[in-house]
Amino acid sequence: MPRGRPRKENAVLQRFTSLASGFAAQIEREVRAQIARAVQSEIAEMSRRLFQGGKTSGAVKVERTATGRPRRKLVMECPVAGCKNQSRGPRFSFFCQEHGESLSAADKKAALEARKARLSGAKTSGKGRRGRKRKSA
Ligand SMILES: [Zn+2]
Repeated sequence: MPRGRPRKENAVLQRFTSLASGFAAQIEREVRAQIARAVQSEIAEMSRRLFQGGKTSGAVKVERTATGRPRRKLVMECPVAGCKNQSRGPRFSFFCQEHGESLSAADKKAALEARKARLSGAKTSGKGRRGRKRKSA
């Protein structure tokens, strides 16, 4: 039978494939188990150190940023030029109490736009990349 060979090869290939996939699955299971064990012991060790450090010694300080760098200070200044009052946050469009009450909506918008222009001008100064040219009319 000339048709016997390809079928046989096919069967061998299939067997090999199933063997290989079974092997891969086994490896995967073992690796997963090892990783799980490693993670578990690591977590246990970490929590032990944390609790010990918090209770007995001041050597371990938890309240540090992940990067160790100081936090960036938020700029919370009134957008009106020259005004050094502290802004009241996003709910008040970042204006200080004085300007938030005295300025009209249009004036506030103008002040915000002016500040935006000031800030972006400071950032891109010297590079001349402002105002991209458009091809279309
Ligand atoms: Zn102000």
